Amino acid sequence: MTRVFNFSPGPATLPEAVLRQAAEEMLDWHGSGMSVMEMSHRGKEFMSIHAEAESLLCELMGIPAGYKVLFLQGGAIGQNAIVPMNLIGRTGRADYVVTGDWSKKSAKEAAHFGEVRIAASSEEGGRYTRVPAQAEWQLDPKAAYVHYCANETIGGVEFFWTPQTGDVPLVADMSSNILSRPVDVARHGLIYAGAQKNMGPSGLTVVIVREDLIGHAMPITPSVFDYKIQAAADSMYNTPPTYAIYIAGLVFKHVKSLGGLAAMEAHNRAKAAVLYDFLDKSGFYSNPIQREARSLMNVPFWLKDAALDAAFLQGAQARGLVGLKGHRSVGGMRASLYNAMSIEGVQALVAYMRDFEAQHG
Ligand code: PMP
Repeated sequence: MTRVFNFSPGPATLPEAVLRQAAEEMLDWHGSGMSVMEMSHRGKEFMSIHAEAESLLCELMGIPAGYKVLFLQGGAIGQNAIVPMNLIGRTGRADYVVTGDWSKKSAKEAAHFGEVRIAASSEEGGRYTRVPAQAEWQLDPKAAYVHYCANETIGGVEFFWTPQTGDVPLVADMSSNILSRPVDVARHGLIYAGAQKNMGPSGLTVVIVREDLIGHAMPITPSVFDYKIQAAADSMYNTPPTYAIYIAGLVFKHVKSLGGLAAMEAHNRAKAAVLYDFLDKSGFYSNPIQREARSLMNVPFWLKDAALDAAFLQGAQARGLVGLKGHRSVGGMRASLYNAMSIEGVQALVAYMRDFEAQHG
């Protein structure tokens, strides 16, 4: 068996130790005689898996009292509608900050449910290379919330500061940088993330929501997506994505064993530095993102000549470096460096990039 270095944006590489444990427990979880996949979500075995995953997430992220953690389905794209359905009704209006394709998509979807304003945008000629400074934001004091995307997975633009929104609740899409470094949960009203980058398999969506924001859903909100109904049912109003929750729990335990989110940040900064330092010194590859906003998780880069893209990808594959093709909307390459990507993986990528340049530069 050979495992590749998987730079895919998501579903993405997971810690090998977690996959091995899941394999060992596949047929018989802890003497239950069953796979986790076969268990009733209401049985005591799965209830203990669910409760442990939730408590580990609270511990890792430092989620304070007064917040509920929900394990839902529908993905982050689902939350693009579910967030406004649950929150916008308080005033009928919401502010969105656009720093890339994902936040733009969020704003577009929210407009089905109320009045959406773009409080700030860094779109310039269809491209995004920075985060608009707080001073550029034009916030509506009557907004029900302000939404931003903490890390733009396609564009490679990341926030390294928490926006100031006064009394207006702050909502973050953290799909691609959750658990990559510590965050100040208390400064957010709501955080959501799909699991399939830093937490586990696709199918699970984590929502962390301040309790006072629960209970304002629009009447059209499907029960399964009403935070109040799901919070009251401990995320079991419907059958939750049980296997994905189990794997996420194993990932949380693994991250804790490595030293938690501060350790993840040090590891992620070291990895990203290897690649960005190389890109900055190269005249062959480029990354146009402003330094202060360069994502630690997703590093888009372009070859000097796009005609070499196919050869680059083919050569990478031959060296066991996969998932590097850039998003179809921006082209080029993208290396995703989530928690489970090792520094050896990034070093192998840079060594390949150096060799490719020597051959084709
Ligand atoms: N937001 C961000 C920042 C993402 O990276 C993604 C997925 N790549 C999504 C939203 C959409 O997630 P999903 O497909 O799980 O709904």
